[in-house]
Amino acid sequence: MPGETRVAATPDTVKKFISLGCDVSVERGAGVSSGFLDDAYSDQGAELIPIADQGGWSSADALLCVQPPSRERLSALRRGALLVGLLSPYANGDLAAALTDSGLSAMALELLPRISRAQAADALSSQANIAGYKSVLLASAALDRYFPMLMTAAGTVQPARVVILGAGVAGLQAVATARRLGAVVYVSDIRPAVKEQVESLGARFIEPPELEDKPAEAGGYAKQASDAFLAAQRQQLSDQLAEADVAICTAQVPGRTAPRLISEDMLDRMRPGSVVVDLAVAQGGNCAGTVPGKTVERLGVKLIGGNDLPCTVPNHASAMFSRNLFALLEPMLKEGVLQLDSDDELVDGCLIAENGTIRRSDVLTPGAD
Ligand code: NAD
Repeated sequence: MPGETRVAATPDTVKKFISLGCDVSVERGAGVSSGFLDDAYSDQGAELIPIADQGGWSSADALLCVQPPSRERLSALRRGALLVGLLSPYANGDLAAALTDSGLSAMALELLPRISRAQAADALSSQANIAGYKSVLLASAALDRYFPMLMTAAGTVQPARVVILGAGVAGLQAVATARRLGAVVYVSDIRPAVKEQVESLGARFIEPPELEDKPAEAGGYAKQASDAFLAAQRQQLSDQLAEADVAICTAQVPGRTAPRLISEDMLDRMRPGSVVVDLAVAQGGNCAGTVPGKTVERLGVKLIGGNDLPCTVPNHASAMFSRNLFALLEPMLKEGVLQLDSDDELVDGCLIAENGTIRRSDVLTPGAD
């Protein structure tokens, strides 16, 4: 994928797969952009194969990827082979067609159930953690002010005021990072359980609007809020943002367009020199006017579209992602043979296709793109 810098196996995880009896092939150069050179893989016993090597692909039982390869490339896999990675199942009709045509099985890490047994394999969390951390660093570099409070001979500098929208994995890491840099942090989320977590990190929680039709939550995720709720929330946030130096937007609802929390009117009230980083930009954006992968300046306010932040920390992002994949597959490997048990709650949740049959047609529909 253009802009993708991560890799789905490191020399360390290759070694672990081999110790479980697997043969591992790695495309030449696959790890270079994340700091893992070909020799490091071959030193651990991997076979290096050319890019898009038909032979290498057709003999594989499983293909580990970060994002899904094209339909054409997937057709090189043998029927019944397993594809594992971040497959964007909510927005990937083309993938559904490829899986059906080529008779493949596929596990989408986005759909891994959030049960404790799955934590080590939770790639959404490992990558969101990085995005949350990096969003604050980008904001601090773009901001026209210090983050910490400073008392200097030239006078006292007030700490930056940071508003974080959404306190899931990325949001909480953003809170922790902004606090470490010395900012005063305010957080908005619609799940009441978050308040305690936010306060334990030294931030202040903005209570959600008191309306009767409060958004529900299921499995630790927020459900979509009503238009009336979002309108009340925007009104409440408008005053907070008018005083903010930085807004970090991480609010998401799985499988839905991200809630619009910062409107043009609200941006009009923000101070020139302030910064918004929108991690939800690829899902439609929490903030008006943000563009994926770009920084747009609007009346002096910098709007940063932070859709690919894990790719900007590729070494650690790949190390964590690869460990997630190994943790997922290790229990299914018996003497080097992959045994998928679709009755296992963990497998059942994320196995979107089995031997070419779509199992999760609730999320993945051929021709939906
Ligand atoms: P996410 O990326 O889907 O959403 C990010 C945050 O946005 C969520 O906290 C959500 O409540 C919030 N949000 C949605 N609509 C909003 C709105 N209108 N205004 C403000 N905030 C809004 O969520 P995530 O980061 O993937 O994590 C969701 C939860 O799952 C977290 O509580 C996390 O701790 C938990 N979790 C549990 C496990 C586990 O138990 N294995 C693993 C990972 C995460």
